Amino acid sequence: MTNIINILPDFIANQIAAGEVVQRPESVIKELIENSLDAKSSNIHITIRDAGKSLIHIVDNGVGMSKSDLLLSIKRHATSKILTNKDLEAIKSFGFRGEALASISAVAKLEIITKQKNDTLGWKLISEPNKEINIEPVDTSIGTQILVKNLFFNTPARRKFLRANLTEYRHILDTINKFGLANPNIQLSFYDDNNLIYKLENESLKNRITNILGKKVFNNLINIDFKNDFIKISGFIGSPNIAKVSRSGQYLFLNTRSINNKSLNHAISSAFGPLLDRNQHPVFIIFLEINPEEIDINVHPQKHEVKFEDERAIYNTLKHAVQLCLRTNDMTSEFVFKNQQAEQPFIENKFDNNQIINKTTGEIIDKYEEQPDNQINNTNNSTKYPTNEFAKQSKNNFTKEISVFDSIFSDSILENSTNFGYFQVHDKYIITQNEKGILVIDQHNAHERINYEKAILMLDKELSKSQQMLFPETFELDKKEITILEEIKDELIILGFQFSLNNNKIEIFGKPTEIENGNEEKDLKEILSKFEENQELGRTNKRENIAASYSCRSAIKTGKKLNYDEMKNLHQNLMKCDTPEVCPHGRPVIMEITLKELDLQFGRTPKYD
Ligand code: ADP
Ligand code: MG
Repeated sequence: MTNIINILPDFIANQIAAGEVVQRPESVIKELIENSLDAKSSNIHITIRDAGKSLIHIVDNGVGMSKSDLLLSIKRHATSKILTNKDLEAIKSFGFRGEALASISAVAKLEIITKQKNDTLGWKLISEPNKEINIEPVDTSIGTQILVKNLFFNTPARRKFLRANLTEYRHILDTINKFGLANPNIQLSFYDDNNLIYKLENESLKNRITNILGKKVFNNLINIDFKNDFIKISGFIGSPNIAKVSRSGQYLFLNTRSINNKSLNHAISSAFGPLLDRNQHPVFIIFLEINPEEIDINVHPQKHEVKFEDERAIYNTLKHAVQLCLRTNDMTSEFVFKNQQAEQPFIENKFDNNQIINKTTGEIIDKYEEQPDNQINNTNNSTKYPTNEFAKQSKNNFTKEISVFDSIFSDSILENSTNFGYFQVHDKYIITQNEKGILVIDQHNAHERINYEKAILMLDKELSKSQQMLFPETFELDKKEITILEEIKDELIILGFQFSLNNNKIEIFGKPTEIENGNEEKDLKEILSKFEENQELGRTNKRENIAASYSCRSAIKTGKKLNYDEMKNLHQNLMKCDTPEVCPHGRPVIMEITLKELDLQFGRTPKYD
């Protein structure tokens, strides 16, 4: 008889569990902030170094721990938050799985310094994977301090999967933003290396929104307030004029926990109905309060997802509440309030790699895949782009004129080909003909394809073309926008943007020819947020992502009247593309109606075959 089964030693079990709870520095920060909130802190201070890879330091003024609790806290399944399975049915705290500190201690060096209210001395615990725990008394203030050093130093495979510092930093900032918005009454400060990012006082939600999302959002908020027997909805929705091309302005909280729920996000967006174009996404900061017994938060180790007893009812109520709010604010008068069926907007395509498909728009959302990207160095504040250094390093020459890249609306590329005739219908579609029959071209999708291929070519060859602006534009960027800008600035310069950055103010003095005068702020911001959204979806590589984000913004809009030359240029340039049939998002660009089809429709005998 041979026995082959062993119980794994604790440190291995913890390391395996750590894979679920702690995936990147951001997840450590999320867990630690949640612990501080559960400990009733009113002040939380966070410092990170090297995007959290070398140090995460969090200080709170919460209830602290006793010596024996401190020793238990890093054991797996050790929690002060639930005791019985009855408690599990109505979770009121952020934590309850007792896994976070155990997991972190398996993949990093962990130091915890803590003191409770009536104790004279506090305790300091030092833990290192696979080593004896060390604990000693210390003089410290009430609350808890946690230091996480050299995350994943002992799990090289995991460390390898971390992305460039800027990307990791952005995830962290995103999480801190969410906690900040959900807890305006808590003082929050955040240092990235030695840079102060936030110092937020106890303040109203509106002020907190201004501090985190900026004045422009603040100025365009509509209060939402709704209550029935099972749900309370509060917070703000952004008026349609600040809608974005990505979902990056959407914050949904359930009992103050930030949640990801595509169906509920869809409920909110769809309530805007015709107020928004299909590719616009509303901004919102919405808080749902539901009896904890009606929800299950324990469906995912990181608790980003929730299950509701009755998701359909919540979908309908939320949509109704947003519609009501828009209507009472005179945003629209023509909404029909009928008993809506809960739509299940997303379906999963089991046959094709489990893609998620939006049934309404047909948009395919790939499953998120991590792709480590290259390290990009951070730069300090107040820099003018392109920098001398950049100009020297790259083959790029900003004054270089490249005739093939002329704007599609320039006459120079009108060719002396057959006069096909062009006709625009409803300021949306261009009708023309080819040898086989009729062509219907979607003007926006077509221009997007042209700009996309042009951008790819420019980025590949580092050929730049920029138009100097007579009146430079200055505006503010929020912290997240700045980090994205830093990440893709070299590419933006190639595409034609010239700018200087001074703290949170950007001055644009050169722009790509496709960006219309006066649209610089809106377009640049939307390029940044589209880039981020695409990156989150793990859809494309960096170059393709930038080209897609750029082409989406720079393309002529549906609804714009075009003259003959513009239509002709658009058509001819489209025909020069490698893939004229689809736009970068996979939507069709051209529809062909052949003579054969027409003949069939009109009852003529086809004489072609
Ligand atoms: P959970 O939060 O699921 O209970 P954790 O591993 O995150 O599990 O934390 C374990 C325990 O350590 C908590 O239940 C709590 O009692 C204690 N603890 C962790 N962080 C803090 C903190 N900042 N202040 C006070 N107690 C804390
Ligand atoms: Mg916890």
